[in-house]
Amino acid sequence: MSPRNGRRTGAHRAHSLARQLKTKRRRRDLDEIHGDLKPENAARLLRQEPDPDMPGCAQFYCLHCARYFVDLTSMKEHFRSKVHKKRLKQLREAPYTQEEAERAAGMGSYIPPKKVEVQTQPFDEVVAMEASS
Ligand SMILES: [Zn+2]
Repeated sequence: MSPRNGRRTGAHRAHSLARQLKTKRRRRDLDEIHGDLKPENAARLLRQEPDPDMPGCAQFYCLHCARYFVDLTSMKEHFRSKVHKKRLKQLREAPYTQEEAERAAGMGSYIPPKKVEVQTQPFDEVVAMEASS
């Protein structure tokens, strides 16, 4: 007996071209998101100016999935969802870019990046807002 069409859990290729073509909307690549997770970028993304053209005026943003939400409830639901948890896992396991691998191989002075600590972003001010209601 063999499993049908290899529906496997776990180690999944993040960069399968076929999968990327299948998705309708262009999503940010994992390595772009790694950039977004740097504190200086994260702070900017999480404290955007209210933008009436964005869902929820761009006030509810999941860094890891590069998605906007209409309100706190949907964002919190998203944090608990399978897609979000899967994304956190992908971000933890994402291999470093080819460019970095080449630099690491070529230069003696190269300092390898620290392992990224990935967790759901704190949403401090929103939490405070909610607690008072
Ligand atoms: Zn998310």
